[in-house]
Amino acid sequence: MAGGTHRVPFARRGSVLGEADLAALAELVRAEGTLTSGVWRDRFEERFRERIGARHALTVTSGTVALELATRLLDLAPGDEVIATPQTFQATIQPLLDHDVRVRFCDVDPDTLNMDPDVLETLVTDRTRAIFLVHYGGNPADMDRIMAIARRHGAIVVEDSAHGIGTLYKGRHPGALADIGCFSFHSTKNITTLGEGGMITLARDEWAERVLRIRDNEVDGVFTPRTDAGEERPALLPWMKFADSVYRHTAVGIRGAGTNATMSEAAAAVGMVQLDSLDRFVDRRRWIAGRLDEALSAFPGVRLHRAAPDSRHSYHLYTFFLTAGREVREHFVRAVDLLGVEIQLRYFPLHLSPEWRLRGHGAGECPQAERVWFEEHMNLPCHPGLTDDQVDHLVTAVTRAMREAYEKAGAKAHLARTA
Ligand SMILES: *Cc1c(COP(=O)(O)O)cnc(C)c1O
Repeated sequence: MAGGTHRVPFARRGSVLGEADLAALAELVRAEGTLTSGVWRDRFEERFRERIGARHALTVTSGTVALELATRLLDLAPGDEVIATPQTFQATIQPLLDHDVRVRFCDVDPDTLNMDPDVLETLVTDRTRAIFLVHYGGNPADMDRIMAIARRHGAIVVEDSAHGIGTLYKGRHPGALADIGCFSFHSTKNITTLGEGGMITLARDEWAERVLRIRDNEVDGVFTPRTDAGEERPALLPWMKFADSVYRHTAVGIRGAGTNATMSEAAAAVGMVQLDSLDRFVDRRRWIAGRLDEALSAFPGVRLHRAAPDSRHSYHLYTFFLTAGREVREHFVRAVDLLGVEIQLRYFPLHLSPEWRLRGHGAGECPQAERVWFEEHMNLPCHPGLTDDQVDHLVTAVTRAMREAYEKAGAKAHLARTA
């Protein structure tokens, strides 16, 4: 499958950039002010926070960094357990590799590819510190049940909402459904901040204070205001702001070094414009998905990836399941590729990847995730950058490739029977 040459490519860009994005950049360039830690960042955070309904929303440089910070806030200790979905991009749980914790992979619901609460119930223990889940492809996880289980055991829930921007769960937005939310504005995501960027949403003030320190190159620690003024020190002059803060606080415990995870003003300016366009982008995704659903539901052996009636799927990924057998699936993939439609399967179950195998994980741990990925899983292009012509071609090509796949598989089965 030659990448980049398909008539209907998988998304390199998940959103559309235009005049309004350019105008925001022009305004920023002409203003001659700071290019970092400025008003655009503050405005973007405020607008995002309101949109999501989160207590705090803080920009960072990527979704991966948001997840690293989320993991850091958990203060994991040896012996702690963390439960995670295997059906996600590696960044969701990669930071856990740095910790001496036991990761338990929770199998998924084969209809949604989201964490299955029935399985979660069997994995949760008194040692479960956190649960990492994803709203797969933009279809929200079963949050009411997951949160009820988590609350009963005092576990913190991290929503990887990289696919969930524009998604609604019973009228509420991912990132405000649990304790910590992590968003990505990577080029392929539903909105982008010029290629890279991220946001972390937080339900606790203490976490927000820590993230502000960490992302701005300060030490992450437990600080208490100094009460005794007895220490010998040089007199402070009013402009000695930094020295003043050093003297005013006593570190009780250092948790770790800070870093620079500050989003640029250019990224935030574009983020503001993109956020205003989010509903339009998601409507376009939903329209394309509706056309694909309609075409595919004409075939037996197809299971669609649908949100519950009270929720809104944002179709970051268009997914369907081809249950007609390996042969039909392989014929379909080949035929649709020849017709110019690019397929990329998202994602390989993480518990089967080398880094988690080295930690003792492997086949059999999540039977549904494994079965669906190896036997049924399909993703098709679905993004607002596709023109009407491309969408027409996509739907026609999918229909034709499905017919061919059934015919070929059927003919072969017939030949095998008559041989
Ligand atoms: C894209 C993505 C990430 C990582 O975000 P980046 O901004 O690319 O670092 C994390 N989790 C999921 C599920 C993603 O799709």
